[in-house]
Amino acid sequence: MSRKPLIAANWKMYKTPAEARSCAEALLKSLQDHTRDEIAICPPFVSLSIVLDTLSGSNLAVGAQNMHFADEGAYTGEISPPMLTSIGVTYVILGHSERRQYFNETDELVNQKLHAAFRHKLSPILCVGEKLEEREHNLTEEVLMRQIELALRNVSPNDASSLVIAYEPIWAIGTGKTATPEMAAEAHLLIRSQVARRLDRKSADNLRILYGGSVRPDNAPSLLNQPEIDGALVGGASLNPESFIKLVRY
Ligand code: PEP
Repeated sequence: MSRKPLIAANWKMYKTPAEARSCAEALLKSLQDHTRDEIAICPPFVSLSIVLDTLSGSNLAVGAQNMHFADEGAYTGEISPPMLTSIGVTYVILGHSERRQYFNETDELVNQKLHAAFRHKLSPILCVGEKLEEREHNLTEEVLMRQIELALRNVSPNDASSLVIAYEPIWAIGTGKTATPEMAAEAHLLIRSQVARRLDRKSADNLRILYGGSVRPDNAPSLLNQPEIDGALVGGASLNPESFIKLVRY
């Protein structure tokens, strides 16, 4: 089963539009001939257009970090799926642990957003992962199964062809602590088997499962060489173009 790896940069709430443009220019210069992996850059909303313009016509895709599930409406401060697709955005990160933790996003809300992404032909990068205390109490499997079951409610195998899942253990995000390649691979196997149960075997075999949590140029090779790991969602190390380029080119 060959799944083209995806390396996605999550810039979180960093970089002004001018900084985003200069970072995108540096990435374009060094990565425009990189074909082994797909690459997606996810800047803050206000920098989507400038990054799309900079990367236009290249092999580097652009994603949003969140969106509302409705097409339009009285939802002050929100951004809708058609707003993203109308400017050329192709990926959207959904259910990131920072959104779940600081903005009270529930599995039910993530499910609504996932359906909206499929309706609008956006490829969702669905984030799942356990907290430290859940891992310490041997609840990792239960948490992952529940998050996937609820996120995929009423999703059909047909819808799911563009789905990407990112396994992001919360204790590893922005902490410098990384899951060992074996721990990550074990979680990815659990996720794939749950997707096979919930959708079907073919969808599970085609699904790209990324690892996220303190991925850096030094630990990327051992993680990304695991056959079960189909790429990475990179936060901190994607903010500096040199470090992201080094990580991609491991
Ligand atoms: C993330 O934001 O999804 C992430 C994995 O962050 P970091 O790489 O900084 O841990």
